[in-house]
Amino acid sequence: MLYCERCQVLSRDGKTCPLCGSRKLRPVCPDDPVLLLTVGEDEAIRITAAFKESSVPCLARSSGSGGYISIILGRSRCSDVRIFIPFNKIEHAKEILIGIGFLKTGKESEKKADSGEQDGKVPMSRCKRIAVKIISVILFFFLIWGVVILSDWVITRLKGLFY
Ligand SMILES: [Zn+2]
Repeated sequence: MLYCERCQVLSRDGKTCPLCGSRKLRPVCPDDPVLLLTVGEDEAIRITAAFKESSVPCLARSSGSGGYISIILGRSRCSDVRIFIPFNKIEHAKEILIGIGFLKTGKESEKKADSGEQDGKVPMSRCKRIAVKIISVILFFFLIWGVVILSDWVITRLKGLFY
Protein backbone atom coordinates (compact mmCIF):
# COMPACT_ATOMS: atom_id res chain seq x y z
CA MET A 1 0.00 0.00 0.00
CA LEU A 2 1.43 3.40 -1.01
CA TYR A 3 1.47 6.45 1.20
CA CYS A 4 1.79 10.22 0.67
CA GLU A 5 4.23 11.54 3.25
CA ARG A 6 3.10 15.14 2.86
CA CYS A 7 -0.64 14.58 3.37
CA GLN A 8 -0.28 11.43 5.48
CA VAL A 9 -2.91 9.54 3.54
CA LEU A 10 -2.96 6.20 1.78
CA SER A 11 -3.26 6.10 -1.97
CA ARG A 12 -6.45 4.57 -3.27
CA ASP A 13 -5.39 3.91 -6.83
CA GLY A 14 -1.77 3.03 -6.04
CA LYS A 15 -0.48 5.87 -8.20
CA THR A 16 -1.42 9.26 -6.78
CA CYS A 17 -2.27 10.89 -3.47
CA PRO A 18 -6.05 11.37 -3.17
CA LEU A 19 -5.54 14.78 -1.52
CA CYS A 20 -2.66 16.54 -3.27
CA GLY A 21 -2.45 14.39 -6.40
CA SER A 22 1.28 13.89 -5.89
CA ARG A 23 2.97 10.86 -7.41
CA LYS A 24 5.80 10.96 -4.90
CA LEU A 25 4.52 8.04 -2.87
CA ARG A 26 6.35 5.45 -0.83
CA PRO A 27 5.29 2.15 0.71
CA VAL A 28 3.55 2.72 4.04
CA CYS A 29 5.36 1.77 7.27
CA PRO A 30 3.44 0.20 10.19
CA ASP A 31 3.91 3.27 12.41
CA ASP A 32 3.20 5.93 9.78
CA PRO A 33 0.43 8.28 10.84
CA VAL A 34 -2.51 7.82 8.48
CA LEU A 35 -5.54 10.07 8.09
CA LEU A 36 -8.37 7.99 9.53
CA LEU A 37 -11.22 10.42 9.21
CA THR A 38 -12.25 14.06 9.35
CA VAL A 39 -14.85 14.93 11.97
CA GLY A 40 -16.35 17.85 13.85
CA GLU A 41 -14.72 19.09 17.04
CA ASP A 42 -17.18 17.43 19.44
CA GLU A 43 -16.88 14.08 17.66
CA ALA A 44 -13.09 14.42 17.65
CA ILE A 45 -13.06 14.77 21.43
CA ARG A 46 -15.27 11.70 21.80
CA ILE A 47 -13.20 9.63 19.36
CA THR A 48 -9.78 10.60 20.73
CA ALA A 49 -10.99 9.85 24.26
CA ALA A 50 -12.10 6.38 23.16
CA PHE A 51 -8.76 5.79 21.45
CA LYS A 52 -6.89 6.86 24.56
CA GLU A 53 -8.94 4.45 26.66
CA SER A 54 -7.94 1.61 24.36
CA SER A 55 -4.36 2.93 24.25
CA VAL A 56 -4.40 3.56 20.51
CA PRO A 57 -2.01 6.44 19.81
CA CYS A 58 -3.81 9.11 17.83
CA LEU A 59 -3.14 12.59 16.61
CA ALA A 60 -5.80 15.25 16.07
CA ARG A 61 -5.08 18.16 13.81
CA SER A 62 -7.30 20.96 12.57
CA SER A 63 -7.74 20.65 8.83
CA GLY A 64 -7.74 24.40 8.32
CA SER A 65 -4.35 25.59 9.51
CA GLY A 66 -2.62 22.23 9.54
CA GLY A 67 -1.19 23.03 12.96
CA TYR A 68 -1.38 20.83 15.99
CA ILE A 69 -4.18 21.79 18.33
CA SER A 70 -5.27 20.86 21.77
CA ILE A 71 -8.80 19.66 21.19
CA ILE A 72 -9.05 18.10 24.63
CA LEU A 73 -8.82 21.52 26.25
CA GLY A 74 -11.18 22.95 23.69
CA ARG A 75 -8.84 25.66 22.51
CA SER A 76 -9.47 25.24 18.83
CA ARG A 77 -11.97 27.31 16.96
CA CYS A 78 -11.68 25.11 13.92
CA SER A 79 -14.66 22.90 13.29
CA ASP A 80 -12.97 20.22 11.19
CA VAL A 81 -10.49 17.96 12.90
CA ARG A 82 -8.44 15.33 11.13
CA ILE A 83 -7.66 12.26 13.15
CA PHE A 84 -4.46 10.38 12.38
CA ILE A 85 -3.48 6.98 13.71
CA PRO A 86 -0.57 4.66 12.97
CA PHE A 87 -1.15 2.47 9.94
CA ASN A 88 -0.94 -0.76 11.94
CA LYS A 89 -3.73 0.44 14.28
CA ILE A 90 -6.35 1.07 11.59
CA GLU A 91 -8.27 -2.15 12.14
CA HIS A 92 -8.19 -1.68 15.90
CA ALA A 93 -9.37 1.92 15.47
CA LYS A 94 -12.29 0.78 13.32
CA GLU A 95 -13.34 -1.65 16.04
CA ILE A 96 -13.27 1.17 18.58
CA LEU A 97 -15.34 3.42 16.32
CA ILE A 98 -17.89 0.63 15.93
CA GLY A 99 -17.77 0.13 19.72
CA ILE A 100 -18.64 3.74 20.51
CA GLY A 101 -21.36 3.71 17.87
CA PHE A 102 -19.63 6.16 15.57
CA LEU A 103 -19.24 3.58 12.88
CA LYS A 104 -21.86 1.10 11.79
CA THR A 105 -20.78 -2.32 10.67
CA GLY A 106 -21.22 -2.79 6.97
CA LYS A 107 -19.19 -2.08 3.91
CA GLU A 108 -20.58 1.31 3.04
CA SER A 109 -20.08 2.95 6.42
CA GLU A 110 -16.68 1.35 6.82
CA LYS A 111 -15.60 2.82 3.53
CA LYS A 112 -16.86 6.24 4.58
CA ALA A 113 -15.05 6.28 7.90
CA ASP A 114 -11.91 4.83 6.46
CA SER A 115 -11.17 7.82 4.36
CA GLY A 116 -13.29 10.75 5.44
CA GLU A 117 -12.95 13.22 2.61
CA GLN A 118 -10.59 11.06 0.58
CA ASP A 119 -13.46 9.10 -0.80
CA GLY A 120 -16.04 11.28 -2.43
CA LYS A 121 -15.19 14.91 -2.41
CA VAL A 122 -11.79 15.06 -4.04
CA PRO A 123 -12.46 13.07 -7.23
CA MET A 124 -15.89 14.69 -7.49
CA SER A 125 -14.48 18.20 -7.44
CA ARG A 126 -11.84 17.15 -9.98
CA CYS A 127 -14.58 15.92 -12.32
CA LYS A 128 -16.46 19.14 -11.78
CA ARG A 129 -13.40 21.22 -12.56
CA ILE A 130 -12.87 19.32 -15.81
CA ALA A 131 -16.54 19.74 -16.72
CA VAL A 132 -16.36 23.48 -16.03
CA LYS A 133 -13.26 23.73 -18.24
CA ILE A 134 -14.96 21.89 -21.11
CA ILE A 135 -18.09 24.03 -20.81
CA SER A 136 -16.07 27.24 -20.73
CA VAL A 137 -14.17 26.18 -23.86
CA ILE A 138 -17.46 25.46 -25.66
CA LEU A 139 -18.87 28.81 -24.53
CA PHE A 140 -15.70 30.53 -25.74
CA PHE A 141 -16.13 29.00 -29.20
CA PHE A 142 -19.74 30.13 -29.29
CA LEU A 143 -18.60 33.62 -28.31
CA ILE A 144 -16.04 33.71 -31.15
CA TRP A 145 -18.65 32.41 -33.56
CA GLY A 146 -21.11 35.10 -32.37
CA VAL A 147 -18.51 37.84 -32.84
CA VAL A 148 -17.71 36.62 -36.36
CA ILE A 149 -21.40 36.54 -37.33
CA LEU A 150 -21.98 39.96 -35.78
CA SER A 151 -19.00 41.62 -37.46
CA ASP A 152 -20.03 40.07 -40.78
CA TRP A 153 -23.47 41.55 -40.37
CA VAL A 154 -22.04 44.96 -39.39
CA ILE A 155 -19.70 44.99 -42.41
CA THR A 156 -22.57 44.07 -44.74
CA ARG A 157 -24.69 46.90 -43.25
CA LEU A 158 -21.82 49.40 -43.59
CA LYS A 159 -21.24 48.37 -47.20
CA GLY A 160 -24.93 48.90 -47.82
CA LEU A 161 -24.67 52.44 -46.39
CA PHE A 162 -21.61 53.55 -48.32
CA TYR A 163 -22.11 52.03 -51.71
ZN1 LIG B 1 -0.51 14.11 -0.75
